[in-house]
Amino acid sequence: MRLDKLLSLSGFGSRSEVKRLIKKERVEVNGEIVKEPSFQVNPEVDEVTVNGEPVTYEENYYLILNKPAGYITSTKDRELTVMELVSDIPKFERLFPVGRLDKDAEGLLLITSDGELAHRLTHPKWKVPKTYYVVVEGKVREEDIEPLRKGVQLKDFKTKPAEVEILRSGEESSELKITIKEGKYHQVKRMFSAIGHPVKYLKRIRFGNLELGELPVGEYRHLTEEELQKLK
Ligand code: URA
Repeated sequence: MRLDKLLSLSGFGSRSEVKRLIKKERVEVNGEIVKEPSFQVNPEVDEVTVNGEPVTYEENYYLILNKPAGYITSTKDRELTVMELVSDIPKFERLFPVGRLDKDAEGLLLITSDGELAHRLTHPKWKVPKTYYVVVEGKVREEDIEPLRKGVQLKDFKTKPAEVEILRSGEESSELKITIKEGKYHQVKRMFSAIGHPVKYLKRIRFGNLELGELPVGEYRHLTEEELQKLK
């Protein structure tokens, strides 16, 4: 990997900040000053120092999985877990899902080894928006979803106002898109049950700035550097 990438991933600043460090001759590889940010290093083998201090680097992974129904969002369970779907990642035991999707739910699940980022993204303070595509029972009209837009009283709490859009309204079932910034247990299902339209199908299509896009069900991809920078 490039020297500037290694330093940036190891917490020495943005790409341009670490390039400045390199230009200022503060960075050595195997005891030699290196002035080229694109210099190739192998973090497993090469000894890299900044101002004489060794750089410790353990690669973090950031994956988007399109979770299929039938998988538990957990690292360990007697049943099939989402970890089965990422088990070809080196040291995949260090990975864990960020937040959770119900067993019968599908869609975007972020999986990472970066505990700090995971903690931040799931903390209510950050109000990360999550968008779901849902199919619900019955014909949904604009006036039916008004309570969701205002905040609906559930058994143990009142939800914050959600963004809701009707995509199709049929006699038997309707399709909608809903964005919430909270993440309580079964929240979306409970919100639609509260207005008399139980959820038949639920798929998360967006998490913060991350979009599921055309990723096939059961497959994962690595986040791009741009996606990661925006997320952090
Ligand atoms: N809301 C739910 O009800 N289930 C999920 O899996 C995610 C959000």
